[in-house]
Amino acid sequence: MAATVIDGKAFAAKVRGQVAEHVTRLKAEHDITPGLAVVLVGEDPASQVYVRSKGKMTVEVGMNSYEHRLEADTSEADLLALIGKLNSDPAVHGILVQLPLPKHLNEDLVINAIDPAKDVDGFHISNVGLLGTGQKSMVPCTPLGCLMMLRDHHGSISGMDAVVIGRSNIVGKPMAQLLLNDSATVTIAHSRTKNLADVVRRADIVVAAVGRPEMVPGDWIMEGATVIDVGINRIDAPEKGEGKTRLVGDCHFESCAARAGAITPVPGGVGPMTIACLLANTLTACCRANGLAEPE
Ligand code: NDP
Repeated sequence: MAATVIDGKAFAAKVRGQVAEHVTRLKAEHDITPGLAVVLVGEDPASQVYVRSKGKMTVEVGMNSYEHRLEADTSEADLLALIGKLNSDPAVHGILVQLPLPKHLNEDLVINAIDPAKDVDGFHISNVGLLGTGQKSMVPCTPLGCLMMLRDHHGSISGMDAVVIGRSNIVGKPMAQLLLNDSATVTIAHSRTKNLADVVRRADIVVAAVGRPEMVPGDWIMEGATVIDVGINRIDAPEKGEGKTRLVGDCHFESCAARAGAITPVPGGVGPMTIACLLANTLTACCRANGLAEPE
Protein backbone atom coordinates (compact mmCIF):
# COMPACT_ATOMS: atom_id res chain seq x y z
CA MET A 1 0.00 0.00 0.00
CA ALA A 2 1.35 3.44 -0.91
CA ALA A 3 2.18 5.80 1.94
CA THR A 4 0.18 8.92 2.67
CA VAL A 5 2.36 11.85 1.63
CA ILE A 6 2.08 14.44 4.39
CA ASP A 7 1.63 17.80 2.66
CA GLY A 8 3.78 20.17 4.74
CA LYS A 9 3.22 22.98 2.28
CA ALA A 10 -0.55 22.91 2.69
CA PHE A 11 -0.30 22.41 6.47
CA ALA A 12 2.11 25.35 6.74
CA ALA A 13 -0.24 27.55 4.69
CA LYS A 14 -3.05 26.66 7.14
CA VAL A 15 -0.86 27.53 10.15
CA ARG A 16 0.17 30.85 8.56
CA GLY A 17 -3.50 31.59 7.86
CA GLN A 18 -4.35 31.04 11.54
CA VAL A 19 -1.44 33.27 12.59
CA ALA A 20 -2.60 35.99 10.17
CA GLU A 21 -6.14 35.87 11.59
CA HIS A 22 -4.80 36.23 15.13
CA VAL A 23 -2.55 39.15 14.07
CA THR A 24 -5.56 40.91 12.54
CA ARG A 25 -7.45 40.52 15.84
CA LEU A 26 -4.46 41.78 17.86
CA LYS A 27 -4.33 44.90 15.73
CA ALA A 28 -8.07 45.52 15.80
CA GLU A 29 -8.64 44.82 19.50
CA HIS A 30 -5.35 45.91 21.09
CA ASP A 31 -3.57 48.05 18.48
CA ILE A 32 -0.57 45.70 18.69
CA THR A 33 1.46 44.46 15.72
CA PRO A 34 3.89 41.58 16.38
CA GLY A 35 7.43 42.30 15.18
CA LEU A 36 10.19 39.86 14.19
CA ALA A 37 13.82 40.97 13.91
CA VAL A 38 16.13 38.77 11.83
CA VAL A 39 19.88 39.30 12.07
CA LEU A 40 22.10 38.02 9.26
CA VAL A 41 25.88 38.28 9.58
CA GLY A 42 27.82 37.76 6.34
CA GLU A 43 26.71 36.61 2.91
CA ASP A 44 26.16 32.87 3.11
CA PRO A 45 23.94 32.26 0.03
CA ALA A 46 21.64 29.69 1.70
CA SER A 47 21.19 31.96 4.75
CA GLN A 48 20.34 34.89 2.47
CA VAL A 49 17.57 32.83 0.82
CA TYR A 50 16.16 31.79 4.22
CA VAL A 51 16.24 35.34 5.58
CA ARG A 52 14.52 36.72 2.48
CA SER A 53 11.72 34.19 2.65
CA LYS A 54 11.30 34.64 6.42
CA GLY A 55 10.96 38.42 5.90
CA LYS A 56 8.44 37.98 3.08
CA MET A 57 6.23 35.60 5.06
CA THR A 58 6.43 37.74 8.19
CA VAL A 59 4.96 40.65 6.23
CA GLU A 60 2.38 38.38 4.55
CA VAL A 61 0.86 37.42 7.93
CA GLY A 62 0.63 41.11 8.87
CA MET A 63 3.63 41.32 11.22
CA ASN A 64 6.44 43.85 11.12
CA SER A 65 9.72 42.50 9.78
CA TYR A 66 13.01 44.10 10.80
CA GLU A 67 16.04 42.86 8.89
CA HIS A 68 19.57 43.59 10.10
CA ARG A 69 22.28 42.63 7.63
CA LEU A 70 25.78 42.93 9.05
CA GLU A 71 29.18 42.59 7.38
CA ALA A 72 30.90 39.21 7.63
CA ASP A 73 33.69 40.77 9.74
CA THR A 74 31.30 42.35 12.27
CA SER A 75 32.81 42.17 15.76
CA GLU A 76 31.20 40.20 18.57
CA ALA A 77 30.83 43.43 20.57
CA ASP A 78 28.87 45.10 17.74
CA LEU A 79 26.62 42.08 17.29
CA LEU A 80 25.96 41.88 21.04
CA ALA A 81 25.20 45.60 21.09
CA LEU A 82 22.59 45.13 18.35
CA ILE A 83 21.02 42.23 20.26
CA GLY A 84 20.91 44.40 23.38
CA LYS A 85 19.07 47.10 21.42
CA LEU A 86 16.56 44.60 20.03
CA ASN A 87 16.05 43.10 23.50
CA SER A 88 14.90 46.47 24.82
CA ASP A 89 12.86 47.51 21.77
CA PRO A 90 9.15 47.04 22.63
CA ALA A 91 8.22 46.80 18.92
CA VAL A 92 10.36 43.67 18.58
CA HIS A 93 8.74 40.53 20.01
CA GLY A 94 10.94 37.94 18.33
CA ILE A 95 14.67 37.92 17.58
CA LEU A 96 16.31 35.39 15.29
CA VAL A 97 20.05 35.32 14.61
CA GLN A 98 20.55 33.33 11.42
CA LEU A 99 22.99 30.45 11.91
CA PRO A 100 25.68 29.52 11.12
CA LEU A 101 27.60 32.61 12.21
CA PRO A 102 31.06 33.40 10.80
CA LYS A 103 33.75 31.44 12.66
CA HIS A 104 35.11 34.38 14.71
CA LEU A 105 31.77 34.79 16.50
CA ASN A 106 30.84 32.59 19.48
CA GLU A 107 27.38 31.20 18.64
CA ASP A 108 26.54 30.13 22.18
CA LEU A 109 27.45 33.55 23.58
CA VAL A 110 25.40 35.34 20.92
CA ILE A 111 22.31 33.12 21.25
CA ASN A 112 22.39 33.34 25.05
CA ALA A 113 22.48 37.15 24.80
CA ILE A 114 18.96 37.14 23.32
CA ASP A 115 16.17 37.84 25.82
CA PRO A 116 14.72 34.29 26.31
CA ALA A 117 11.21 35.72 25.99
CA LYS A 118 12.12 36.94 22.47
CA ASP A 119 14.12 33.84 21.51
CA VAL A 120 11.72 32.59 18.83
CA ASP A 121 14.23 29.97 17.64
CA GLY A 122 14.15 28.39 21.12
CA PHE A 123 17.94 27.96 21.25
CA HIS A 124 18.62 30.04 24.41
CA ILE A 125 19.87 27.88 27.25
CA SER A 126 16.85 28.92 29.40
CA ASN A 127 14.41 27.71 26.76
CA VAL A 128 16.38 24.48 26.31
CA GLY A 129 16.14 23.91 30.08
CA LEU A 130 12.44 24.74 30.19
CA LEU A 131 11.72 22.32 27.33
CA GLY A 132 13.85 19.66 29.03
CA THR A 133 11.80 19.96 32.21
CA GLY A 134 8.46 20.09 30.40
CA GLN A 135 7.81 23.74 31.25
CA LYS A 136 6.38 26.50 29.04
CA SER A 137 9.16 27.64 26.71
CA MET A 138 9.93 28.78 23.19
CA VAL A 139 10.19 25.58 21.16
CA PRO A 140 12.65 25.29 18.24
CA CYS A 141 10.76 25.75 14.98
CA THR A 142 11.83 22.71 12.94
CA PRO A 143 11.12 20.09 15.63
CA LEU A 144 7.89 21.90 16.52
CA GLY A 145 6.79 21.66 12.88
CA CYS A 146 7.61 17.93 12.87
CA LEU A 147 5.62 17.38 16.07
CA MET A 148 2.62 19.27 14.68
CA MET A 149 2.59 17.03 11.60
CA LEU A 150 2.87 13.90 13.77
CA ARG A 151 0.05 15.01 16.07
CA ASP A 152 -2.08 15.94 13.08
CA HIS A 153 -1.53 12.55 11.45
CA HIS A 154 -1.72 10.29 14.52
CA GLY A 155 -3.80 12.25 17.00
CA SER A 156 -1.70 10.90 19.88
CA ILE A 157 1.83 9.48 19.65
CA SER A 158 1.77 8.25 23.26
CA GLY A 159 3.54 4.89 23.63
CA MET A 160 4.88 4.83 20.07
CA ASP A 161 8.51 3.89 19.39
CA ALA A 162 10.30 6.89 17.88
CA VAL A 163 13.83 6.99 16.51
CA VAL A 164 15.46 10.35 15.86
CA ILE A 165 18.55 10.10 13.65
CA GLY A 166 20.76 13.10 14.50
CA ARG A 167 21.57 14.75 17.83
CA SER A 168 22.16 18.41 16.92
CA ASN A 169 21.06 21.11 19.34
CA ILE A 170 18.79 22.67 16.73
CA VAL A 171 16.94 19.59 15.46
CA GLY A 172 17.78 16.15 16.89
CA LYS A 173 17.88 16.86 20.64
CA PRO A 174 14.83 19.15 20.88
CA MET A 175 12.92 16.74 18.59
CA ALA A 176 13.67 13.87 20.94
CA GLN A 177 12.60 16.00 23.91
CA LEU A 178 9.29 16.93 22.27
CA LEU A 179 8.55 13.29 21.39
CA LEU A 180 9.34 12.31 24.98
CA ASN A 181 7.11 15.09 26.35
CA ASP A 182 4.33 13.56 24.20
CA SER A 183 5.03 10.15 25.83
CA ALA A 184 6.70 8.41 22.88
CA THR A 185 9.50 5.94 23.68
CA VAL A 186 12.49 7.70 22.18
CA THR A 187 15.84 6.54 20.83
CA ILE A 188 18.38 9.08 19.61
CA ALA A 189 20.76 7.71 16.97
CA HIS A 190 23.91 9.41 15.66
CA SER A 191 27.12 8.75 13.76
CA ARG A 192 28.43 6.33 16.42
CA THR A 193 25.22 4.29 16.68
CA LYS A 194 25.80 0.60 16.05
CA ASN A 195 23.48 -1.31 13.72
CA LEU A 196 21.55 1.80 12.76
CA ALA A 197 19.41 -0.15 10.29
CA ASP A 198 18.15 -2.45 13.08
CA VAL A 199 17.52 0.49 15.40
CA VAL A 200 15.45 2.25 12.73
CA ARG A 201 13.54 -0.95 11.84
CA ARG A 202 11.98 -0.98 15.33
CA ALA A 203 10.49 2.48 14.97
CA ASP A 204 6.85 3.45 14.52
CA ILE A 205 8.14 6.99 13.91
CA VAL A 206 11.42 7.81 12.18
CA VAL A 207 12.70 11.40 12.19
CA ALA A 208 15.79 11.77 10.01
CA ALA A 209 17.90 14.89 10.67
CA VAL A 210 21.34 14.00 9.42
CA GLY A 211 22.25 16.01 6.33
CA ARG A 212 23.26 13.00 4.18
CA PRO A 213 21.35 12.67 0.91
CA GLU A 214 18.99 9.67 0.77
CA MET A 215 20.93 7.84 3.46
CA VAL A 216 17.90 5.97 4.87
CA PRO A 217 16.77 3.25 2.42
CA GLY A 218 13.27 1.79 2.35
CA ASP A 219 14.33 -1.55 3.83
CA TRP A 220 15.17 0.21 7.13
CA ILE A 221 11.56 1.30 7.49
CA MET A 222 9.05 -0.81 9.39
CA GLU A 223 5.91 -1.55 7.37
CA GLY A 224 3.41 1.24 8.11
CA ALA A 225 5.83 3.51 10.03
CA THR A 226 5.67 7.31 9.79
CA VAL A 227 8.76 8.94 8.27
CA ILE A 228 9.55 12.60 8.92
CA ASP A 229 12.42 13.69 6.70
CA VAL A 230 14.11 16.85 7.99
CA GLY A 231 17.14 16.69 5.68
CA ILE A 232 17.60 19.25 2.93
CA ASN A 233 20.38 18.21 0.59
CA ARG A 234 21.18 19.59 -2.83
CA ILE A 235 22.49 16.98 -5.28
CA ASP A 236 23.45 16.98 -8.95
CA ALA A 237 20.58 16.25 -11.32
CA PRO A 238 22.09 15.58 -14.74
CA GLU A 239 18.70 14.23 -15.88
CA LYS A 240 17.42 17.84 -15.69
CA GLY A 241 20.27 19.13 -17.83
CA GLU A 242 23.92 19.99 -17.47
CA GLY A 243 24.86 21.63 -14.19
CA LYS A 244 21.32 21.25 -12.77
CA THR A 245 20.64 20.25 -9.17
CA ARG A 246 17.67 19.10 -7.11
CA LEU A 247 16.77 18.85 -3.42
CA VAL A 248 16.49 15.51 -1.66
CA GLY A 249 15.98 14.52 1.95
CA ASP A 250 17.91 12.18 4.23
CA CYS A 251 15.53 9.36 3.27
CA HIS A 252 15.28 7.68 -0.12
CA PHE A 253 11.76 8.82 -0.88
CA GLU A 254 10.48 6.17 -3.32
CA SER A 255 11.70 3.12 -1.39
CA CYS A 256 10.70 4.56 2.03
CA ALA A 257 7.26 5.55 0.70
CA ALA A 258 6.78 1.98 -0.53
CA ARG A 259 6.95 0.69 3.07
CA ALA A 260 5.88 3.64 5.24
CA GLY A 261 2.33 4.42 6.28
CA ALA A 262 3.04 8.14 5.94
CA ILE A 263 6.02 10.22 4.84
CA THR A 264 6.98 13.86 4.41
CA PRO A 265 8.43 14.82 1.01
CA VAL A 266 11.47 17.01 0.36
CA PRO A 267 10.84 19.69 -0.66
CA GLY A 268 7.34 20.46 0.61
CA GLY A 269 7.42 18.67 3.97
CA VAL A 270 9.24 19.89 7.05
CA GLY A 271 10.79 22.98 5.38
CA PRO A 272 7.61 25.10 5.01
CA MET A 273 6.50 24.13 8.53
CA THR A 274 9.69 25.59 9.98
CA ILE A 275 8.89 29.14 8.86
CA ALA A 276 5.21 28.76 9.82
CA CYS A 277 6.32 27.78 13.34
CA LEU A 278 8.68 30.74 13.50
CA LEU A 279 5.72 33.04 12.83
CA ALA A 280 3.59 31.16 15.37
CA ASN A 281 6.38 31.54 17.96
CA THR A 282 6.61 35.28 17.25
CA LEU A 283 2.87 35.62 17.78
CA THR A 284 3.14 33.65 21.03
CA ALA A 285 6.01 35.87 22.22
CA CYS A 286 3.99 38.97 21.41
CA CYS A 287 0.92 37.70 23.30
CA ARG A 288 3.05 36.77 26.33
CA ALA A 289 4.81 40.16 26.30
CA ASN A 290 1.43 41.89 26.40
CA GLY A 291 -0.20 39.61 28.96
CA LEU A 292 -2.72 38.35 26.39
CA ALA A 293 -4.07 34.83 25.85
CA GLU A 294 -1.71 32.75 23.75
CA PRO A 295 -2.80 31.13 20.49
CA GLU A 296 -3.67 27.42 20.86
P1 NDP B 1 24.10 18.59 12.03
O1 NDP B 1 25.17 18.41 11.03
O2 NDP B 1 24.26 19.58 13.11
O3 NDP B 1 23.82 17.17 12.74
C1 NDP B 1 23.76 15.99 12.00
C2 NDP B 1 23.58 14.82 12.91
O4 NDP B 1 23.55 13.64 12.11
C3 NDP B 1 24.69 14.64 13.94
O5 NDP B 1 24.16 14.38 15.21
C4 NDP B 1 25.48 13.44 13.42
O6 NDP B 1 26.01 12.61 14.42
C5 NDP B 1 24.41 12.67 12.69
N1 NDP B 1 25.01 11.82 11.66
C6 NDP B 1 25.92 12.17 10.73
N2 NDP B 1 26.23 11.10 9.96
C7 NDP B 1 25.51 10.07 10.44
C8 NDP B 1 25.41 8.71 10.09
N3 NDP B 1 26.12 8.18 9.09
N4 NDP B 1 24.59 7.93 10.78
C9 NDP B 1 23.84 8.43 11.80
N5 NDP B 1 23.89 9.72 12.18
C10 NDP B 1 24.72 10.53 11.51
O7 NDP B 1 22.77 18.85 11.19
P2 NDP B 1 21.39 19.57 11.58
O8 NDP B 1 20.75 18.85 12.70
O9 NDP B 1 21.60 21.02 11.67
O10 NDP B 1 20.57 19.31 10.23
C11 NDP B 1 20.28 18.01 9.77
C12 NDP B 1 19.62 18.10 8.41
O11 NDP B 1 18.40 18.80 8.55
C13 NDP B 1 20.41 18.88 7.35
O12 NDP B 1 20.17 18.29 6.09
C14 NDP B 1 19.81 20.26 7.38
O13 NDP B 1 19.91 20.92 6.13
C15 NDP B 1 18.37 19.91 7.66
N6 NDP B 1 17.62 20.98 8.30
C16 NDP B 1 16.38 21.25 7.79
C17 NDP B 1 15.59 22.22 8.36
C18 NDP B 1 14.24 22.45 7.78
O14 NDP B 1 13.65 23.48 7.99
N7 NDP B 1 13.67 21.46 7.07
C19 NDP B 1 16.05 23.04 9.48
C20 NDP B 1 17.33 22.61 10.01
C21 NDP B 1 18.07 21.63 9.42
P3 NDP B 1 27.22 13.07 15.41
O15 NDP B 1 26.57 13.99 16.41
O16 NDP B 1 27.68 11.80 15.99
O17 NDP B 1 28.22 13.77 14.53
